[in-house]
Amino acid sequence: MKLRMTESLRDRVKAMADQQDVSVNKFLVKAVENYLQWKERTPPPTRVVRRPVAAAVAESPSEDLLPPPAGGVYVACPCGSGKKYRFCHGGKAK
Ligand SMILES: [Zn+2]
Repeated sequence: MKLRMTESLRDRVKAMADQQDVSVNKFLVKAVENYLQWKERTPPPTRVVRRPVAAAVAESPSEDLLPPPAGGVYVACPCGSGKKYRFCHGGKAK
């Protein structure tokens, strides 16, 4: 197998191989082995999943206040959050 690499990389590999008193070929094989082992041990980076905007909006009351439900401010908020209107969309109602 013929490897192509930049001259500076070749020099660094050669220097490192000399330092460890092994041939460049042996050094490269070892390096690749190490890399593969490390790679196989390391789990792939978890993707940052962007939550849809709709989900974020559903969790926090929007700035717009909903009209108070007929039963008063201590009944379930009409937004369907399960919270009392007073503590949800009615929170800012004065
Ligand atoms: Zn609400």
